[in-house]
Amino acid sequence: MKFSKLSEYFENLEKTSSRLSLIDILSDLFKETEEKEIDKIVYLLQGRLAPFFVPLEIGMAEKNVAVSIANAYKSNKEDVLKLFAKLGDEGLAAGELAQKTGAKDSGLTVEDVYKTLEEIAKTQGAGTVEKRQTLLTGLLENVDAVSAKHLVRIPLGNLRLGIGDPTVLDALATAKLGDKSNRKLMEGAYNRTSDLGLIAKTLFNKGLDGVEKLEVRVGNPIRSELCERLPSPAKVIEKMGEVDAQYKYDGFRVQIHKDGDNIRMFSRNLEEMTHMFPELIEAAKTEIKAESVILDSEALAYSPESEEFLPFQETTKRRRKHGIEEMAKSLPLKAFVFDILYKDGKGLLDKPLEERLQILKETIPNNDVLIKTGNQTIKDPKTLSNLLEDAISKGLEGVVIKKLQSPYEAGARNFNWVKLKRHSSGELNDTIDCVILGYITGRGKRTAFGAGALLVGIYDPKKDEFVTVSKIGTGLSDEEWREIHNRADKIALDHKPPRVNSIINPSVWIRPEIVIEVLADEITRSPVHTAGKEDGEPGYALRFPRLVSFRNADKKAEDATSVEELIEMYQQQGKK
Ligand code: ATP
Repeated sequence: MKFSKLSEYFENLEKTSSRLSLIDILSDLFKETEEKEIDKIVYLLQGRLAPFFVPLEIGMAEKNVAVSIANAYKSNKEDVLKLFAKLGDEGLAAGELAQKTGAKDSGLTVEDVYKTLEEIAKTQGAGTVEKRQTLLTGLLENVDAVSAKHLVRIPLGNLRLGIGDPTVLDALATAKLGDKSNRKLMEGAYNRTSDLGLIAKTLFNKGLDGVEKLEVRVGNPIRSELCERLPSPAKVIEKMGEVDAQYKYDGFRVQIHKDGDNIRMFSRNLEEMTHMFPELIEAAKTEIKAESVILDSEALAYSPESEEFLPFQETTKRRRKHGIEEMAKSLPLKAFVFDILYKDGKGLLDKPLEERLQILKETIPNNDVLIKTGNQTIKDPKTLSNLLEDAISKGLEGVVIKKLQSPYEAGARNFNWVKLKRHSSGELNDTIDCVILGYITGRGKRTAFGAGALLVGIYDPKKDEFVTVSKIGTGLSDEEWREIHNRADKIALDHKPPRVNSIINPSVWIRPEIVIEVLADEITRSPVHTAGKEDGEPGYALRFPRLVSFRNADKKAEDATSVEELIEMYQQQGKK
């Protein structure tokens, strides 16, 4: 496919904010795509060259891109930078200059452009900046104005078409299988491999069968299994029968991948974070009795002597890039390992939990830095209640209860795993993870900061869209407003972002990226909010919401609380 053709698709995708038309446009694109280029196109749609967990970043600074543009269109860097500022978008600036100078397409293919971008990404050492500039100039000299517009956004990391992974899967299914009925199978493969390009390529050359057979692989993060909620130990036993109950540690979820001496670690939202945990790398090399392995764990600072656990906030301080080595000494982490997903060439996802825990025990026998989570088989509510009390008294968050016979369902949140926390007795005690969707400008004191309230929403995975649940205004301190502006102003938009479904029109839209943890008194029904709203019925909303923390460190917008969860929390309100 010619890159100019792909750019026309980018152009159309950028213009639409309806999810259904995104799927239509993408599926037309995929129908026109050849097998040899499909993975590249899928990555480029995300503004990348590889799946997100492969650290292949093109990363060019704005001023360097300006030099490339200036050289391609016989301008100078200062004028280009001025045009960036005037139009507020480097892509528009490049497009305008290309148009003015009558830039012509010389027929570059997607593969040509991909190859050069890859070269840019891989350039290292002396003269990197100049080499990258020259390579990008070379591309710009050979593309038309629309292509130039989208092309320059890629090295800047600004090609945000707002296409979610489920939308790409829907479009692939529509293009290649005729409809979305087999989407679930594709989603399963995605949950196991996290690589959309690989899934697309496999679908193209081996069909749905091939996709279904895609197994977990060391180095590809697996989408985390998550917990449902139930109000009490009694309800847990009633619904789940005999269970495995484990401590719920409030640290940082870390998926540990070991392939010989090559160790990599991923966060809950599948970001690479190997560099954060030198002591866990060391432990993974020495304490694991296997050549290759994938473990699921919660890392936190723990002192075996005093039996003290440090909470999430303390542990995340380590995310600051500096001082990691010192922190490793002064506040060494332990990883409480609660699952094993792969061992020596075999995927273990389909094995029942009971069996996986047995394999886990044999795989990390030392319990030194990698500690097998404390667990117990329980079948009566009283024992479970005691264990919950015991966990809380130790400073832990609560317990996670798991079905003994359940497989590891990558990416699922269902009743295979249930969490019980302190006060899980009916009132709304768990927090809700919301995504900031916009500002509503207010009057008076707040206008100093340009906002009176935040419009926040949650995620509907079935529709791959963000729906509103609340406005948060009072209760935010000036400090918090400042923090919000710091994060949000950069991603403000003058139109509704794609995949947002809202009746309320805020003064400023914010691209759905910032996740905040919100505590509310109650969930109510409301006609003005779109969360869980079905024809003619009201949606669900939060009463007296307040900001607890920013959760960007470990959650993407799509990891926000789902509509289904919110409705369940609503139904559980007040029930003992
Ligand atoms: P929360 O804010 O309560 O952590 P969450 O949305 O991040 O919620 P949940 O599904 O509610 O995730 O809870 C699962 C999380 O609990 C896991 O992501 C993991 O980080 C943590 N955890 C701690 N101990 C365990 C355990 N023994 N088994 C599974 N998860 C555990």
